[in-house]
Amino acid sequence: MVVSVTGATGFIGRRLVQKLLSDNHKVHVLTRSRAKAQLVFSDNFPKLVIAEEREWEQSINGSNAVVNLAGMPISTRWSPEIKKEIKRSRINATSKVVDIINNAKLDLRPSVLVSATAIGYYGTSETLVFDENSRSGNDYLSEVCREWEAKALEVDNDVRLALIRIGVVLGKDGGALAKMIPLFMMFAGGPLGTGRQWFSWIHLDDVVNLIYEAVRNPSYKGVINGTAPNPVRLSEMCEQLGQVVGRPSWLPVPEFALKAVLGDGASVVLEGQKVLPLKAKELGFSYKYPYVKDALEAIMREP
Ligand code: NDP
Repeated sequence: MVVSVTGATGFIGRRLVQKLLSDNHKVHVLTRSRAKAQLVFSDNFPKLVIAEEREWEQSINGSNAVVNLAGMPISTRWSPEIKKEIKRSRINATSKVVDIINNAKLDLRPSVLVSATAIGYYGTSETLVFDENSRSGNDYLSEVCREWEAKALEVDNDVRLALIRIGVVLGKDGGALAKMIPLFMMFAGGPLGTGRQWFSWIHLDDVVNLIYEAVRNPSYKGVINGTAPNPVRLSEMCEQLGQVVGRPSWLPVPEFALKAVLGDGASVVLEGQKVLPLKAKELGFSYKYPYVKDALEAIMREP
């Protein structure tokens, strides 16, 4: 297969590209910056092609699949300008990809688009349980996700679309966890806030496998929650994290410290939602890490 990937230089994208290459697929890295992509993929991979924005059309034409992961990170302070850019970056990248696919000659058109979105779609709640059939929330992140998904849904009907509503991705080299671990080392590693908030997480390997399955398997279509089957309350997440980094969990990590490292994006941890992966279960997706303890231990064992 030839797979074009936007956001390939990011936390999830890097691991997905490695997986695709190791399975002998050809990857087109669709980036805004060739120099950055060359730095990220510094080894010489014969099956990897880097394409800057003006080359995206040429790269997507003839690809079998497109994975769309691009978007400005949300772990910043959300000034009005930044909020606009968080939304604009996702909608623009998706719009560009969809326009190219829709305008491609039929014999060059990719047959599948796997597009990222987030569980922020559902809004936050300490009591409700969300699955793919649940309604959208009414806060800023749910609005971003709705508009982001709406853009992807403009892809022509003959292209299979999988929208992956991704939970908080746990991995060593990026995302929220990489920023939380030093805090747990610095402070004692106890609960954040009341601890009753839900934390719908997924291990990096599992989200990459889910995206990969969505690329290959025609049964994967529509909205699919990219979360582990066992979400936890934040108190449990903090307790487990405290244990794996060797910190007792009787002293809370102050909220201000988390906000200092995650900016207003800390809301995805401090508020939160319980999201179940109904569709992945129906599809028979097999999780490597269904439980947070195993996921965290595996991450801490990584070199
Ligand atoms: P990263 O922030 O690590 O990478 C995203 C990529 O998007 C970057 O490598 C960059 O690629 C591109 N990008 C960054 N800023 C902009 C911008 N202003 N305009 C256009 N493109 C930009 O993201 P992740 O790998 O963590 O996540 C991938 C997608 O999944 C994102 O859209 C994210 O919102 C979503 N998601 C992630 C979650 C997580 O926990 N990680 C949770 C829920 C959803 P380049 O510079 O090469 O163009």
